[in-house]
Amino acid sequence: MSGDVETMLRGPGAFEVARRALEEMERHRVWPTALNFELWTHVVVAPDGALAREIARLIDSGEAFTDTVSDELAATYLPKARLNDHIRDAGDALSKELASVSKAIQTARKSSEVYGKTLASASRVLDDEQDPAELRQTIATLTAATRRVHKENRALEERLEDSTNEVNRLREHLEQVRRDATTDGLTNLANRKAFDDELDRACDEADEGGWPLTLAVIDIDHFKSFNDTWGHQTGDQVLRFVASVIGKMGSAPRVVARYGGEEFALLFPNETAASAFAVLETIRREVSSRMLKRRSTNEDLGTVSVSAGLAERRPGEQPPALMERADEALYASKHRGRNRTTSAEDMANAA
Ligand code: GH3
Ligand code: MG
Ligand code: MG
Repeated sequence: MSGDVETMLRGPGAFEVARRALEEMERHRVWPTALNFELWTHVVVAPDGALAREIARLIDSGEAFTDTVSDELAATYLPKARLNDHIRDAGDALSKELASVSKAIQTARKSSEVYGKTLASASRVLDDEQDPAELRQTIATLTAATRRVHKENRALEERLEDSTNEVNRLREHLEQVRRDATTDGLTNLANRKAFDDELDRACDEADEGGWPLTLAVIDIDHFKSFNDTWGHQTGDQVLRFVASVIGKMGSAPRVVARYGGEEFALLFPNETAASAFAVLETIRREVSSRMLKRRSTNEDLGTVSVSAGLAERRPGEQPPALMERADEALYASKHRGRNRTTSAEDMANAA
């Protein structure tokens, strides 16, 4: 099985995954706590993953699954924990970096104070001392102090440069972590969580700007039988193909996501249902016109089609209500024979 666990648990086959996780726990006499359930769904979804291998190792060694063991597994292997760890580590590193920079600055300030005092006392000496030997001594002191201050300044500059590099590295790392957390691994589109966040934001912006917002959902037709015929791997290849066709139509400010197993969602800020409808028809036609080939064997796979449903947001409408209307329109497309696009507005008018 592919795809991340969050997606699997909201898509077709979700209950199968959940049932198998419970069965596995029972078989190995592990208490079905919420945390263990989360761990075991990962085992079921990714039986070859690092977590599954570690759990297999623990089972072989006869280790009991105490809460402590589960906590440790979760902290090490669950994506949420890893994300939090990344953020905490980056925060720690940043604090250390800032502490060391402010120490370097303090040192530099002290040494320039000392330098100032050296200059002041030298100028007093120069005012009233005429003895050449004493003068030479004063100048030598000044030269040494100047050199010291130069050296310290250079050290401070280097320290600041190191720090800037380190902070930039941390920023890039965090940016990567953020991208991973919001992206679907199979298709590289936004994931459901990211889409839901964008939808909330787009609704607020539409309210503020007083402009339209249209939401669409797209679902691959008869995908189960395609998978049954050609296997999951070829199914994944088709998912990526459909994702690429949809992705091409999704440049910002539009948002495109893989919303569940073989379901995609599109957000059209500041676009009406009519404009979105045309885009969905372009996608639908392009998907169904492509003769697909199985990459591993070059066999002809024929074509696949998608059905789409869309709804233009009513003033003040909340995201779940909007989503529901788009889903109903999708369902109508399926009901009317698939490979078509239905607008919730047209359904309302027809009714
Ligand atoms: P419909 O036209 O009504 O949408 O029929 P369908 O067969 O597409 O719908 P159904 O919901 O019954 O099945 C969806 C299938 O999508 C089930 C599953 O095999 C497949 N699927 C879901 N996620 C993935 C995935 O990540 N990879 C592959 N290859 N298939 C997936
Ligand atoms: Mg489908
Ligand atoms: Mg579906």
